[in-house]
Amino acid sequence: NTQAETFEFQVEARQLLQLMIHSIYSNKDVFLRELISNASDALDKLRLEALRGTELRADTSDLHIEIEVDKEHRTLTVRDNGIGMTHDEVVGLIGTIAKSGTAEFLRELKESKDAAASQDLIGQFGVGFYSGFMVADQVTLVTRHATETRGTRWESTGEGTYTIEELDEAPQGTSVILRLKPEDTEDSLFDYTSPWKIKEIVKRYSDFITWPIRMATESTDADANATTDAEAEADKSEDEAGEKAGDEPRLETLNSMKALWARSRDEVSDDEYHEFYKHISHDWNNPLETIRMQAEGTFEYQALLFIPSQAPLDLFMRERKRGVQLYVKRVFIMDDCEELMPEYLRFVKGVVDAQDLSLNVSRETLQQDRQIQLMRRRLVKKVLSTVKDMMSENAEGYATFWKEFGRAVKEGLLDDFENRDAILEISSFASTQDPERPTTLRQYLDRMKDGQQHIYYMTGESRSIIESSPHMEAFREKGYEVLLLTDPIDEMWVGSVPEFDDKQFQSIAKGQVDLDTEEEKKEGEAEREQRKKDFAELLSWMTTTLSEQVKEVRLSSRLTTSPACVVGDTHDVTPQLENMFRAMGQ
Ligand code: ADP
Ligand code: MG
Repeated sequence: NTQAETFEFQVEARQLLQLMIHSIYSNKDVFLRELISNASDALDKLRLEALRGTELRADTSDLHIEIEVDKEHRTLTVRDNGIGMTHDEVVGLIGTIAKSGTAEFLRELKESKDAAASQDLIGQFGVGFYSGFMVADQVTLVTRHATETRGTRWESTGEGTYTIEELDEAPQGTSVILRLKPEDTEDSLFDYTSPWKIKEIVKRYSDFITWPIRMATESTDADANATTDAEAEADKSEDEAGEKAGDEPRLETLNSMKALWARSRDEVSDDEYHEFYKHISHDWNNPLETIRMQAEGTFEYQALLFIPSQAPLDLFMRERKRGVQLYVKRVFIMDDCEELMPEYLRFVKGVVDAQDLSLNVSRETLQQDRQIQLMRRRLVKKVLSTVKDMMSENAEGYATFWKEFGRAVKEGLLDDFENRDAILEISSFASTQDPERPTTLRQYLDRMKDGQQHIYYMTGESRSIIESSPHMEAFREKGYEVLLLTDPIDEMWVGSVPEFDDKQFQSIAKGQVDLDTEEEKKEGEAEREQRKKDFAELLSWMTTTLSEQVKEVRLSSRLTTSPACVVGDTHDVTPQLENMFRAMGQ
């Protein structure tokens, strides 16, 4: 073995660790959920490599997770015989925090002074492996990647540095050894050396993990005393018939291992769904909505999807992944399966388990697969209809949904023609009607004035900018409601989506806007003609003088208090879009 080298944590990692050590997160039990979740992922990955025929230095016949408590030394070990990590992976994955948004997360955390808000942020971010430091004052990780012979040992007290040592040999997979903090001894609620406590946490948070989670326990009255070596030895002959024999103590499997999505709805509690969501999403908060689907027949599949309650920090970053995992007959095949969820629903998390695909499917074959395309169509429709149901059944939930994900959803208006109406139906927009609450298009239609032909909108950078625009004057005067579209994406879709429920979208800043009724028009006709004549000379002079800047200067019927305004041609790009194109270098 080589000498252990000492490294410094990257700044963000150090800050995050400080948070964990001085744990501001009240529910410390979740550290175990995180370690088990990582172990489970590692086992999934190893099985997948084996399926693909990768040459491995690993035995895949008994993949499992094992938890070991040592009361005397106050250590807790979580061990898996999964894929493991290479030396570089340990440095990259454990020593640094690659999660996008970390810096912003820490800045927000610093700014939010109140504890509840900090809790909430940590929950939103999730801290995976580092959560071990909530309960331990030293964490040791020993790992060997399944394609290598040498191993790596990582160790840290979480105080700024960690050591890494290469090992000539190491067992398959990864062990995480926690040296538990002494202060937790007093409080039996947090006694992580108690097998009962461990059992309870596993049951509560990790029951659905599809790999066995084993722990040495004194399970029956008969072996209640069989804890000493001598007695274990005496029991040996009996034990040989059991699942794990030899010198090892009796191992009990703590979890039921049932795939949640394959169980019927009334068999599974909301809590179980929520914990499962946390495992696959790496989110620490409960989801906003749980969606179950089951298809039987020629192409059988089950889906368990979730809408998170908060948008991730990287929702609008390019490298962002999609959240649906593909399983085939209970076997994990891939993460972020793009073929199952369109880009604009990238925040949806979950699992789809298809019964009739080959275990060897690749992304390429998925793209060609007609069944997959069909499945995707159904999943999308189901997600959209779930949101629609939320609108009537859970208005608050829908409001949260739209606040968090509306901007992403509207991207669908640009490319999902098949579901365009459904997307419009679940969309909300700020409007002049209510400064606090956005309106749906349905609600807008219901409030339309007699004779109003269009859905009026104006795009702009902010609500206040739009509201103070001269274009608004006539509409305000007439009492017409105007949608205030302030997201950059609004510029993009509103030009290409012609109508909603037979009513056209009409920008109040483009072309001629005619708000008068037929009667009002007749009354004003003569007066307007006269004014046109009176101002003809001025207008033609202005048009010539400003010819570099504008196409035409004309008298306005839309202004009430402002003297003048600039109006775009019906087919012109708006100033905002112009800015956007310029920013994109076009
Ligand atoms: P996350 O699970 O959200 O990626 P974690 O902090 O929990 O974040 O883990 C960071 C990374 O370290 C994982 O993505 C994984 O690549 C690696 N890792 C952690 N635990 C294990 C393990 N038991 N076996 C293999 N790799 C692991
Ligand atoms: Mg994790």
